[in-house]
Amino acid sequence: MTAFWAEPDFDAHELVQVVHDRASGLTAIIAVHSTHLGPAAGGTRFWHYNVPALAMSDALRLSRGMSYKNAMAGLPMGGGKAVILADEQRIKTPEMLAAFGDAVEGMGGRYVTAEDVGISEADMVTVSHRTDHVSGLPVTGQGRAGGDPGPFTAYGIYLGIRAAVRHKLGHDSLGGVRVAVQGTGSVGGGVARLLARDGARLTLADIHAERAAGLAAELGGTVVSSETIMGTACDVFSPNALGAILDDAGIAALDCAIVAGGANNQLARPEHGAALAARGILYAPDYVINAGGIISVATEYLARRNGNSGDVTEVNTLVEKIPGRLESIWQESESTGVSSDVVADRMAQKLIGRG
Ligand code: NAD
Repeated sequence: MTAFWAEPDFDAHELVQVVHDRASGLTAIIAVHSTHLGPAAGGTRFWHYNVPALAMSDALRLSRGMSYKNAMAGLPMGGGKAVILADEQRIKTPEMLAAFGDAVEGMGGRYVTAEDVGISEADMVTVSHRTDHVSGLPVTGQGRAGGDPGPFTAYGIYLGIRAAVRHKLGHDSLGGVRVAVQGTGSVGGGVARLLARDGARLTLADIHAERAAGLAAELGGTVVSSETIMGTACDVFSPNALGAILDDAGIAALDCAIVAGGANNQLARPEHGAALAARGILYAPDYVINAGGIISVATEYLARRNGNSGDVTEVNTLVEKIPGRLESIWQESESTGVSSDVVADRMAQKLIGRG
């Protein structure tokens, strides 16, 4: 058996806590990667792992990802992540969530949780009965930060696409720019609506074909199958569905100048960033362009902690810094010959005191 600190995903994490509560049946891992910039923020994933060791690598990898994302978003937050190990039936009880809340509370504010895959807003409300170190709670008033982070994520991606088009194609406007959108859910749908307003020409795909068709009917645009979207001739390919789509075959299929979208962990392996660059494709590192949601979640939390208003304007002001951050990544990438994903990682490492 390998000690977890010998795992490839272990990256000098400050704290990794395994929680077991016999009465409720909760088993969870809370990983704090870095608190250099502030409390370690990152959601809780509720997932059934066929191989329980994968829960540890998820917690380690995702918490480091949150350190990078929060740092590059300019937030005074570190990076953490929790994983609740679900059984095969994925049974989730209020008692388990309460025990999880106690575990978060026991960390004394070092870790701040929120929703992730398998955890709803209602679940977070249950957790919040046991700890204040929670975000992603329902909006408490008109114009206040909080609630669904999807629209803020979409706004940041739209601004990032505009910046990429300006940088790579030299166009100040999106009028007539061809954008292929993979995934038309909360984020992809929001991005498509904002792009359509600026006159972009959309090609849409979703495994739920009726979802893409409905959006195309609303906005104008073409629908293609989810199997062919990556090979669609376009200026911008915007992945907003799955991770790990930029693998050897995916990159070979691309017929675009820019990849800019919200899906997490788009590069199948680290070397795929260089593979995109070798094809002359401008890549917007995923965790930089999709930070709008965490900016909303963090603003909500900080407002509650500090007694600020935490309004939507504050969130939008921070989201509007995403294009500038992308521009500095691309400029450094071009002046050093290092791919944009690696430039972003190095910038993030520096910000968390590990440069
Ligand atoms: P969502 O579930 O609302 O939408 C995802 C859409 O993708 C669905 O309509 C689904 O049918 C479609 N889809 C799934 N597999 C597909 C495939 N192979 N081809 C085409 N379409 C496919 O999820 P979301 O909140 O819009 O998130 C989308 C992505 O963005 C995810 O990777 C998520 O991790 C990431 N992300 C979301 C947020 C946020 O604020 N919601 C923030 C950061 C990152």
